[in-house]
Amino acid sequence: MEKPKVRSDWTRAEVAQLYQRPLLALIMEAAAVHREFHPPGVIQTCTLLSVKTGGCSEDCAYCAQSVHYQTGVKAHKLLDVTVVEEAARRAKAAGATRFCIGAAWREVRPNRDFANLLEMVRRVRALGLEVCATLGMLVPWQARALREAGLTAYNHNLDTSAAYYPRIITTRTYADRLRTLQVVREAGLQVCTGGILGLGESEADRIDLLHTLATFEPHPESVPINRLVPIPGTPLAKAKPPSIWETVRVIATARLLMPTSKIRLAAGRESLSPVEQALCFVAGANSIFLGERLLTAPNVPLEADQALFEVLGIQAQPAFAENLPT
Ligand code: SF4
Repeated sequence: MEKPKVRSDWTRAEVAQLYQRPLLALIMEAAAVHREFHPPGVIQTCTLLSVKTGGCSEDCAYCAQSVHYQTGVKAHKLLDVTVVEEAARRAKAAGATRFCIGAAWREVRPNRDFANLLEMVRRVRALGLEVCATLGMLVPWQARALREAGLTAYNHNLDTSAAYYPRIITTRTYADRLRTLQVVREAGLQVCTGGILGLGESEADRIDLLHTLATFEPHPESVPINRLVPIPGTPLAKAKPPSIWETVRVIATARLLMPTSKIRLAAGRESLSPVEQALCFVAGANSIFLGERLLTAPNVPLEADQALFEVLGIQAQPAFAENLPT
């Protein structure tokens, strides 16, 4: 089979056509493309630490950390640099190769917290880990400072389609989001951006989101696919999480559209059985979060992940190994 071309000129109709294929055929094709671009059985393992929790002025309808909702989340100010360094050391010992730093901010401000954050990035990088951060909106000099401190990638999710976005967040726009992603790319950082399934979006919204992601040039290096974890107290507390079939369909389509990207089975993985997770890996997911918590949401216990890796013969991708030979 000739290696498929990596394209950024997908039309919306082409994306819809792939998305709507019979599911088994879609999964099989995605698995074949995955095999062309990635070593089978190698999964990137990331750990996410909330270094500043709660008190966020944004109103994202799914989030436990927004000041707009009563969620009972325990807020804390920016953690001490040494606490973060120690957490990164433990994550590395548990098998993580990428350490992600999350702060519940609307945007990065030019203050002492940012200086401390840069120091966290330096220390985590010095442990030999890839470092990712998710800190809200950025301006160019901040993105460059993060890059100089050793940041590998910046996460900034689009969440859903441009049309549905105002139903989920009103305190910023889709254009704000796209602008920050551009700033990140121009600073020479890897781009990590994806979506959340289960926000009440339609199939058309999912297709639109995939189309937006797949027409970035170059594609985002990481595409997290999150399954909503409904949080009591938020407007989406009673939302129905997506089915495994919807999840796999989105993963397989993303794999076909963005063959070289890491597709990350991110939040909501703990509600999938080991067999369902294995199906997501077959369909092209090749990155997960390790660790008991994802910001404020529960995640899969480490022992369960170790058992799953063992039974499936999965290896963790070493840090800084972008493309292992297939
Ligand atoms: S998702 Fe991020 S930006 Fe939105 S409310 Fe939560 S912490 Fe704030």
